[in-house]
Amino acid sequence: MFNSGLKKKNIELNSALELLKERISVLENENNRAHAILDSMVEGVIAVDKDTRVLSLNPTAEKIFNTTRENALARIFLEVFPNNDIAEVIALVLNKGKFVSRELSLVWPVQRVFQVNASPIFESGAVNGCLLVIHDITEIRRLETMRRDFVANVSHELKTPLTSIKGFVETLLEGALDDKENSVTFLKIINNHAERLNTLINDLLDLSHIESKEIILKKDKFALSSLVDEVILGFRSQAKKKGVEIKTELPHALEVIADRSKIEQVLTNLINNAVKYNKEKGSVRIYSEQFPDKTKIIIEDSGSGIPPKDIPRIFERFYRVDKARSRELGGTGLGLSIVKHIIELHSGFVGVESTEGLGSKFWFTIPR
Ligand code: ADP
Repeated sequence: MFNSGLKKKNIELNSALELLKERISVLENENNRAHAILDSMVEGVIAVDKDTRVLSLNPTAEKIFNTTRENALARIFLEVFPNNDIAEVIALVLNKGKFVSRELSLVWPVQRVFQVNASPIFESGAVNGCLLVIHDITEIRRLETMRRDFVANVSHELKTPLTSIKGFVETLLEGALDDKENSVTFLKIINNHAERLNTLINDLLDLSHIESKEIILKKDKFALSSLVDEVILGFRSQAKKKGVEIKTELPHALEVIADRSKIEQVLTNLINNAVKYNKEKGSVRIYSEQFPDKTKIIIEDSGSGIPPKDIPRIFERFYRVDKARSRELGGTGLGLSIVKHIIELHSGFVGVESTEGLGSKFWFTIPR
């Protein structure tokens, strides 16, 4: 009798133990799932208690604040993350028990812009902590600024020749038309400005076409030296006027696989610059270097060179070392960014080495 009672109790205990094990396993699974979600989030997530002690943080948060879980856990938020703006957001959430969203700039450990969303954590109806979700929006803000700058630049570039055209047309209409000699001069100036507008719009169309993801390269195998010879032919008179000598040292047998007309545009833009920014009686040398995986083409000039501070930005749209000089020479500031885009479409690279006053070496690579 006594034995069977004990047996029953034992069975009851065993099944309670099984149930407990099952519950623990369910909880463990849930916990693992929650951790997996947190660990894979691109947003930084930090939870703090009501004294702002760090309860948990995910790997993205560790990365953003250049810290580790071991270092951060159980410590006061401001001790680990010396950022007053975020601490202020946490204080607001803990005090008011309401969701707060703010855009904050972080200067340490890196300069970035974050969207910080903070929610209260409730326990038995009272605020017991705060959950921060930190979203890095630096890239979005950078692209927005770039787009704004681009629109401003295009408007400015279009406005300058248009203002001149309008001015000269008005002068002609107000009577200068009767002055034969001056009116021809004015018409020539108008023509130059119209030409400038045309070049600018063509460059903009090229750029937008190249930047659009729909572009399909028509790749062929062709001899590079004959393409370079064709391009040089177009610069003969411009180079002759300046006394600039263009030398090509490309092997006749050198063939590349690429979109011929696009590479023609790259060569045209680079050789144009090499002549344009050259000194009187200067020289341009075009040669290649062969690597197992790529062909490198170098366009070397004996021109004005580029100051080191301008080199990192030289391939940006509308970036010019000397705006007035570029305009005077018929430049749009878009040539090099077109070059960069075309080469990147070919999975190649572009670059420049330059010494002020001595000249520049612009190069690009085409994978073999
Ligand atoms: P641009 O139409 O003004 O020539 P690019 O995009 O082709 O526009 O070039 C951007 C700027 O880079 C130029 O305005 C010029 O200041 C500089 N640059 C380009 N190529 C050369 C070169 N070979 N020598 C010196 N400066 C150059």
